[in-house]
Parts: sequence; C-alpha cells; structure tokens
Amino acid sequence: MNFINPIYYKKEAIKKINNFILEYNPSQLIFLVDSNTHQFCFPKVVSDIKSECRIEVLEIEPGEENKNLYTCINLWEALTELKIDRKSLLINIGGGVLTDMGAFVANCYKRGIKFINIPTTLLAMVDASIGGKTGVDLGSHKNQIGNFVLPEMVMIDSDFIRTLPQAQILSGFAEIIKHGLIADREYWNKIIQIQDLNAENLESLISASIDIKKKVVAEDFTETGLRKILNFGHTIGHAVESFFLENKEPILHGQGVAMGMIVESYISVEKGFLAYSDYQLIKQYINSLYSKISFLKDNFKEIFMYMQNDKKNVNNEIKFVLLKSIGEAVYDISVNHELIEKAINVYIEM
Ligand code: NAD
Ligand code: ZN
Repeated sequence: MNFINPIYYKKEAIKKINNFILEYNPSQLIFLVDSNTHQFCFPKVVSDIKSECRIEVLEIEPGEENKNLYTCINLWEALTELKIDRKSLLINIGGGVLTDMGAFVANCYKRGIKFINIPTTLLAMVDASIGGKTGVDLGSHKNQIGNFVLPEMVMIDSDFIRTLPQAQILSGFAEIIKHGLIADREYWNKIIQIQDLNAENLESLISASIDIKKKVVAEDFTETGLRKILNFGHTIGHAVESFFLENKEPILHGQGVAMGMIVESYISVEKGFLAYSDYQLIKQYINSLYSKISFLKDNFKEIFMYMQNDKKNVNNEIKFVLLKSIGEAVYDISVNHELIEKAINVYIEM
C-alpha cells in the first residue's frame, strides 16, 4: 500500500469536505471532539459544513491519559446507542490524541466507517493526523494498540492554532524541527530563523513539514524502511514520555521528542556519523526553546525498559534513527546499552 490521504487547506478543504458529503451521502454525521475543541473549533467547522443529515456530537475528556481502550469502548457504546450505521461519517476535530483514537474507533466500529481528520493542534497538523497511523496506549505503553488506516481526507487550517496554548505549540514545533533535521538543511535554516511561533509565521512551515512527511510516507507506508526516519528523537523521547506517564507526571510529546533529538544527536556523534559542531547547533537551538526535563541517573533502568519495548526493535536490539548531518538521517542503527546510558547522562549533566 503506497499512498497517503488527500490533504487540503482552509477554504479549499471545506469545499472538498462538502463535496464529499454530497457525493457519499452519509446517513449520519458524527463529530468527535474533546471539551477544548468543542469550545474552540467545533463552532467554526459546523457552521461551514453543509449537510441535511442527522448530526451527533460526541465529546471526550482531553489528555493522553484518556487515549486508551476504555475511552474507545465508551465511544463504541455511544455509537451503538445512537444506532450509528456503517454509512455514517465520523469527523475528528482535535489534536493527536483525538485523531489517533477517532481513527481507530472509526476503523473498528462495524468493521469500519469512513472518517475525516480536522487536526487542531500544530502537532496533529504536521504529524499525527497524516500518514495513517492510529492507536491508543496500553497502560503506560504508548500507541501499543493500533493499526494503519487512512482518513478520506485531512483538513489543515492554521487558524486553529490561535487558541492553542504556547506549550502545545512548542510540542508540535518539535516535529517541525525533526523534519528539518532528518530531511532538509535549508528547511532547518529557515526554521531556526523564526522568532515568534504564531499562526502566521507557522503557516508556511506547516505545509513544508507536511510535504516532507508525505514524501517519506508515500515511499514506505507501513514503515518497513525509510519511514523509520520520522522516528528520529522518538526512541528516547517515547521512553521518557512513558516513564513520566507511568509516574503520573505526564510531559508533552514534543518535550520528550525535543530531549530525544538532543540525546540521539549526541549518539550520532559518538557513532561517528554527525559532526560535533552540528550537535552543538542542534543542542543550543533546542535548549533555547525547551526547558530541560529533569530526572535522575537512577531512573535510567526504567527508561531503558521502555526502550526495549520500542516498536522499531528487532530481535531485542534497540534500533535508532541517527543523523549523518543536519538534513540527512540513517535508520536501523543498533546502539548498545552503555552508549545510551552515557548519552542520557550527558543530557542530565548538561
Ligand atoms: P492533544 O490531542 O492532547 O491536544 C493537546 C491539547 O490541546 C488538548 O488539551 C486539546 O484539548 C487541546 N486543543 C486541541 N486543539 C486546540 C485548539 N485549537 N485550541 C485550544 N486547545 C486545543 O495532543 P497533541 O499534541 O495534538 O497530540 C499528541 C498525540 O499525538 C500523542 O498521543 C501522540 O502519540 C500522537 N501522535 C501520533 C502520531 C501518528 O502518526 N499517528 C504522530 C505523532 C503524535
Ligand atoms: Zn512525534
């Protein structure tokens, strides 16, 4: 399967959604929102959508701690009670938690109903809502349950960012930084010049980042090769995220990824791939935006345990995406326990 969902922007997207609804003629429209997107994003979307059919709104609690099978079961039960049939259309309006879970819920309900993603966080726009990965967490294991399934289309509207808290903007921005680091040095140079992370300045970065992700995913939809580069910063990042989730002090995804990119760049230097000067640039830039995550050297064991469960591992070997230079990544690189621990200690002492 070598394709990606169609992605449309702003007014064109609304037109495409309305055309799709007209053609598909769903029996019901269900909007899945969380309490924030219900308030900030749903009114705009619903006023733009033209449809005569029955509309239902399902609201979930926001937050990663709700991205689990229990919430899915509640949603499947709600759909069943509302007598939602297979010709219905689900419209997910929210961040990555909501689009990941909404896609999974749609794909499993009555063996699959069609759905559309309307990402409303920066992270969901440039990453989570595109590329067809769905999923929920199992305990503190991130995205342990899920599948690959594509929405009918994705609507991107950077205006939704206006109501997004700055911490959430920074969280999504980590994925934009990642795109520059793994794929395009010129793009990285453009990124580091942005002074203010507001909707206007981010608009062109959003489409450039989506293009990078689209290109990579189109070559390797099910992640048997090249797509792995999108996991740069995530081997460490996800493990640290899981560690804090387990300890009931969840950090934002992008915070974990930002830290992960520093640590994995250091490993890239130690493995002889990346120039030390590039590592310095990466470290300084990321540190200028993100506060340091604090934990103890003693926590390494637990963090390492999460890495051992990483989906990219083969035969119990922890596989990393590393940088050869800013703009070029290599994947499937084995890194031993000692070097991982050393790199994390360098971060702790930084
Ligand atoms: P999120 O969905 O939790 O949203 C962050 C917060 O912002 C929530 O409180 C939400 O209610 C609020 N919010 C959303 N839109 C808003 C708006 N326009 N205005 C005001 N508040 C708004 O978090 P996220 O960072 O978007 O997504 C993180 C999730 O994405 C993680 O679970 C991660 O695993 C997943 N993810 C998936 C993929 C993938 O390929 N499927 C890729 C990257 C990340
Ligand atoms: Zn990510």
